[in-house]
Amino acid sequence: AKEQGKNNYQIYHSSMNIQTYKIFLLEKDLRRALLRDEFELYYQPRLDANTGRIVGMEALIRWNHPEWGLVSPDEFIPLAEETGLIIYIGEWVIEAACRQNKAWQEQGLPSVSVSVNISAHQFMRKDFIHHMNRIIAETDINPHWLEIEITENILMDNDQSTILTMQNLQKMGISISLDDFGTGYSSLSYLKHFKVDTIKIDKSFIRDLRVDSESYFIIKSIIQLVKSLHILVAAEGVEQEEQLHILRRMNCDQVQGYLYSKPVPAAKMGELLKRGTLH
Ligand code: C2E
Ligand code: CA
Ligand code: CA
Ligand code: CA
Repeated sequence: AKEQGKNNYQIYHSSMNIQTYKIFLLEKDLRRALLRDEFELYYQPRLDANTGRIVGMEALIRWNHPEWGLVSPDEFIPLAEETGLIIYIGEWVIEAACRQNKAWQEQGLPSVSVSVNISAHQFMRKDFIHHMNRIIAETDINPHWLEIEITENILMDNDQSTILTMQNLQKMGISISLDDFGTGYSSLSYLKHFKVDTIKIDKSFIRDLRVDSESYFIIKSIIQLVKSLHILVAAEGVEQEEQLHILRRMNCDQVQGYLYSKPVPAAKMGELLKRGTLH
């Protein structure tokens, strides 16, 4: 038993080192990834729940790591936030998404809005609005076709500058959606103070959505409440036909999820835009 304990300790110890080493390498590589152009945006369509038409798309970052292959954002965004690199990565994302959307419009494809995920660090920066203005001017995109997705942690830091930034963005014509809705803390009270255009119900609720399930009643009341405030409701993580039918009956405005499409590279997204609808 003693022998075994020793071995266990050694195994545990060495895997901890590898973990630390991996993070060290990851940070080093992350610093170079922008220069080497290793990031890529995938896009996932957002559909009108009733007509099945594409009304928007979410830009989701991917990292083509030279040795590790495709790395998921859940693996490097937290580190990018910790190191402050998210500011540069975030700017790259907004610019690439605007440029791509403009290119699709110039090809004559139907105009839809592109949403980009903005992390709290990025949003709170004093020069955030300034950077948005610069990117809009440089890419020549109509801000009406640009949306940002923020999470409740931004709103929790409830102060005047958050409200001002949101108002400024909306004055510029940019829409704001509240992502991962329902997972945060006392979500509903925020909706009174912060005027968002859309809320996105978190996919953890949609996953368990069946008639008469607990999620069923939660989602139903979220949708009723949000619509009474004249805010659009979108559901993310819609994978099954049945979920779509339930959401439609609940008057959910928009849906996004594997049922229609996984996030896809830009070329594939262009094809989806050309096709335009689910049917
Ligand atoms: P998110 O903003 O909540 O994005 C939705 C995530 O759900 C995406 O994961 C998407 O691929 C996934 N998803 C979409 N439909 C389905 C479905 O039907 N079923 C399931 N199981 N999953 C679905 P992804 O692309 O791995 O992104 C993970 C997270 O990384 C995002 O969550 C977002 O928080 C963050 N992220 C991605 N791109 C960026 C970015 O450019 N900037 C920042 N700051 N964060 C980003
Ligand atoms: Ca999102
Ligand atoms: Ca989300
Ligand atoms: Ca998320």
